[in-house]
This record gives sequence, C-alpha cells and structure tokens, in this order.
Amino acid sequence: MTDRIHEFLRNRREEGPCLVLDLEVVRDNYSAFAKALPDTRVYYAVKANPDPQILELLARLGSSFDTASVVEIEQVLAAGASPDRISYGNTIKKERDIARAYALGVRLFAVDCEAEVEKIARVAPGSKVFCRLLCDNNGAEWPLSRKFGCAPAMAPSVLEYAHRLGLVAYGLSFHVGSQQRNPKSWDASLKASAAIFRDLAERGITLQMVNLGGGFPTKYLKNVPAVRAYAQAIFKALRKHFGNRIPETIIEPGRGMVGNAGIIEAEVVLISKKSDDDKVKWVYLDIGKFNGLTETMDEMIRYPIRTPFDDDRLEPCVIAGPSCDSVDVLYEKEPYLLPISLEIGTKVLIEGTGAYTTTYSSVGFNGFPPLKSYVI
Ligand SMILES: *Cc1c(COP(=O)(O)O)cnc(C)c1O
Repeated sequence: MTDRIHEFLRNRREEGPCLVLDLEVVRDNYSAFAKALPDTRVYYAVKANPDPQILELLARLGSSFDTASVVEIEQVLAAGASPDRISYGNTIKKERDIARAYALGVRLFAVDCEAEVEKIARVAPGSKVFCRLLCDNNGAEWPLSRKFGCAPAMAPSVLEYAHRLGLVAYGLSFHVGSQQRNPKSWDASLKASAAIFRDLAERGITLQMVNLGGGFPTKYLKNVPAVRAYAQAIFKALRKHFGNRIPETIIEPGRGMVGNAGIIEAEVVLISKKSDDDKVKWVYLDIGKFNGLTETMDEMIRYPIRTPFDDDRLEPCVIAGPSCDSVDVLYEKEPYLLPISLEIGTKVLIEGTGAYTTTYSSVGFNGFPPLKSYVI
C-alpha cells in the first residue's frame, strides 16, 4: 500500500469495488528489470494491464511491448511507441490480423508450427519470427503449459521452413509459467535453446535471439525472490549453455511489472454460517471471480487481504463473490484466515491486484459492472 493509494482511497466518494494503481510503483519495477538485466530488452506483456497511462509511462521509459492482438498493437502505438518496439507474440493469429499488424509496421512475430509460418510468409514478408518452445511449468502458480509452443525437437524444422520462405529465422521463446517462484526454471529451456541454435547453425542458419518470456512474480501471501535473483540465475544459465556467445535476449514481464502497483478496495456484503455448528464463516465480498478476481480460479492465486482489524484474533472463513453463480467462490478448499471482528460493510483491501484483474472482469454479469480502475 503506497501513501498515494492510501490518500486516494481516503478521498474517494463512489460506491463499489475499484482498483487503484500507482504509476510510481510501475516506474520502480521497470527500473528494477532494466537494472538487473542491463543487456536484455524489456517487452511489457500488455495483457497484464493495458491501461493507457501504464502504456504511456512505459513507452516514455523506453520499454518495448509484447502484444497478442491488433487492438493491443493499436493501444501501444497510441501510447507513443514505434512499431519496431512491438512483438506480436501470440502464436495463434488470423492471417488478416497478421496483415494488419504488418501494415501498422510490426515486423516481429511468434510461431510454433509451420502453418503459422506460412501465414506470416504470405502477408508479412521478410519479417523476423521466433519459435515458441513448450516448457515445463513446474513451480508456477499460474501455469501456461500445453497451449503454446512446440516440442524443442520440432523447432529447428519450423525455423528452417521460415528461412526457406524468406522470413528471418530470428530466435526462440518460452514461458516458464506465470508467478514462477523458482529462479532456476529458465535453465532447462535455455539448454534446449542452445542445442537448437547449434542445430540450425549446422544448417547454415544463425539464430540471434532468445525471448525469456514472463513469469517474474508478484508478492502475494508468500515471499518471492527479488528480480535480481532471477537475473542472476538466468545469466548463469545463459553462460552455462551458450558460453561466451550469449545471444540477444528479451524478457516479457506482465505480472512482475504491474501486479504490486495495484490495490483493490472492496466491501463485505454479508457474513453468515451454513448451519449452527458450522466451523467456518462465509464472507461475501462485492468483488468475485467475474468482476476482477478471476485468478482465484482453482485457488491458484491467493491475494493478501487487509482489514482494519488485522491485529484481532483470526478465524477460518470461506470467501465468496457477490454473483449468483456457485463457481464464484474465491477460497474454500483452503479457508482464509480473517479477523473475527469483521462486519458487514467493512472495507477490505486486496493487495497485489495490478495485473490480470481489470481485463478479466466481465462486462456486466448479473448486473455487476466491470471493475473500475484508477491509475494515479
Ligand atoms: C502472458 C504472457 C507474458 C506475461 O507473463 P507474466 O507471467 O505475467 O509475466 C509474457 N509473454 C507471453 C507470450 C505471454 O503470453
């Protein structure tokens, strides 16, 4: 909680849950990435929070951007970044969207199969492509495992095909899974990457770049290693597998760039029990899975929740959202400890909510409006 957010919430008049995000924290996070990995270019993963003020700040600071759609590309351009700072990093693109991205000046694209290479060769001739590798997401609290990427053994033929079709076979990418708590997770994929670099070199193709993806965590309830620890582990793995021919590298932090910059203020709507001898209380908030807290799915992300009574005795509670859908329960398998003095109407603060909240919020399920957002 920063003083600026505290001050903002003290003066807020409106009703309903809202996210307040402090740009100074984003600025600090960007500096931490830039300083810890000085030879690596930062591509902010726009999907984590595409608020125009965040994009404008990062564009001013010199960041590049990882985008997944034409709309995100347009948002980045509107924020003042030139198209040479944009990667179209989604491996699943319509050919007409590739053509639009190309017309907007984008020349860097992700692929993970030959069919996607063909689309790019047809409508974005001469562009650079990098091939995404499947990656074991052990240690990640929000895994992204099977959907994107190809087996490392398939990557050389995908990239050789790109080369033959007149594209620049530029490099490789992988994502170790979001909220990755183990800094050593990059090692195995860097080993595979170095082998692919060698394989392609033997075919006369020189790869140049490894995209290290995202995965850098935000502190929720448990502590996480600092960015510096990730940087050291990554650099060590690069040295080990590439020797003194370290390739160009990029990172794509999303959560790690904006997660800790935001706080949601919400309100307790109801506290009840399901039977007289029920051991756990049910606490219903005015925010749930459909208006911002989607990442509580399967109880994967456990947000810190602050109340005005945090020094009081705690008791196990089930926490649920306000909608009439029974999946809208945030924490039940592992009940959440909240103060016994919590009351209907109490305002609570949900920390670390700057990433993957506003955009995961539904348009108006059950009449609950999308999550309001203030960037200060
Ligand atoms: C979502 C995504 C990211 C950001 O991941 P974080 O774990 O939030 O840092 C980076 N790269 C790609 C390709 C993504 O899809």
